[in-house]
Amino acid sequence: VQRQLLENATIVTVNDSKEIIENGYLLLEGSTIAGVGEGDVPVDPKTTKVTDLRGSVIMPGLVNAHNHSYANLVKGTTENLPLELWMLYTLAEGRKLTIEDVYISSLLGSIEMLKGGTTAFLDHQPQPLEALLGSAKAYEQARIRALVTPQFGNRPYNETLPQAIEISSLPPEHQVSNDVEPYLEMLTSLLDSLSAYGDRIRCGVGPSGPQRCSDPLLLASYEFAEEHDLPWHIHVLETKAQEATAQKLYGKRMVEHLNELGILSSRCSLAHVVWISEEEIQTLADKDVSVVHNPASNLFLGSGMMPLIELREAGVRVAVGTDGPNCSGFQSMFESMKLAAILSNVRTPDFSRWVRAIEVLEMSTKNSAYALGMADRLGSLEVGKEADFVIVDPKASALVPLNNLVWQLVYGRTDLFISDVYIGGEKVVENGQLLTVDENGVYEEALARGKWLLDRLQVDYERIKTDHPKLKEMIMRLWQ
Ligand SMILES: [Zn+2]
Repeated sequence: VQRQLLENATIVTVNDSKEIIENGYLLLEGSTIAGVGEGDVPVDPKTTKVTDLRGSVIMPGLVNAHNHSYANLVKGTTENLPLELWMLYTLAEGRKLTIEDVYISSLLGSIEMLKGGTTAFLDHQPQPLEALLGSAKAYEQARIRALVTPQFGNRPYNETLPQAIEISSLPPEHQVSNDVEPYLEMLTSLLDSLSAYGDRIRCGVGPSGPQRCSDPLLLASYEFAEEHDLPWHIHVLETKAQEATAQKLYGKRMVEHLNELGILSSRCSLAHVVWISEEEIQTLADKDVSVVHNPASNLFLGSGMMPLIELREAGVRVAVGTDGPNCSGFQSMFESMKLAAILSNVRTPDFSRWVRAIEVLEMSTKNSAYALGMADRLGSLEVGKEADFVIVDPKASALVPLNNLVWQLVYGRTDLFISDVYIGGEKVVENGQLLTVDENGVYEEALARGKWLLDRLQVDYERIKTDHPKLKEMIMRLWQ
């Protein structure tokens, strides 16, 4: 077993007492943390590789609990559109991607995440099995941890809206069957294939949204997750329209419906929950469900603000994500953390309830690790956990002068100052450069593919524009 000692560092542990160790060391044995503490630890330099970090900061790798990797090639294709309209674009884009496109898109996203200090993430992917396997290959090459979570649904798009609207830009093949078997077969194949990657790349189950799936599909997917002990992930109450759709479909609130189906438990993570009621918040707390805050996406799409303070005060475990790069613009968990913290401050004038930097750091490490089903292995720097961590240059302007380390890490755009990133004891970023894949090669390929893709999408974009007025009318009526 390879032993490594990293010494003379300030260590932000994010352990239960949120300890910060000055002049600390991290001892690694193979892929795991064998020791963390203060001062010197005697080691035999013949068997242990010693690195003097000269005052650098070590913090846990960040865990992105909601993302869509296929979207890295379609950043910037829409602006100023609410989700119900934006979806038509992203659906069209998703349909045009080739398997090779998804692979390059996944590599591109991995590069951005790793250089930005994200060491594990949940990839909610509305793609066919072959494309998901291509993504898995990309993550294996980049050496990032991923929960490959197929995103699926079996209701036609217009049924997912609060009122039936004929969407002319959707192709007929979007009308999907009610049969749940094909989805379970796909999940079974994916689970089998991913086992080849060991546990760095794992499988999740990700129905797109309650309103996008029939009840039999929701139930069958949850049972599959139970049977194989996998995390179950879903978008819930992202927009006001979805709240109205729940009334139309179920005659009740969305979370109430999920609860009645008996599919809420600690294996579940719900992305967004912007339009959630007090009673629903209590249900999530009672059922030990995780939720995932994606502040940039919620702002970009005008969806609203997750009631972060209320969720936390009710005892709901809140994780953090970026959402897809085509509705957030970035893959930076540091930006997500900062937005999560400062956005909470405009929810209430009672400043004693505002969320603090250390709390969003815990949400973005430990809580996100829990949502990925890896709470026992990731999310903090403690003995026995995986050696996934980020080293920040002590000369980063964000940290000079050093008055309040966690405050400065969270609010200071620290992703600009990351020097090294380790995953499972393996260095994957060194001096800000990726060691695992050829960055420039990926960029060149992504440039060419992005242009080709955009050319092919023009006809779809023109067709979608004809659907704008109907959807705009629906949304405006909803808000009256
Ligand atoms: Zn999403």
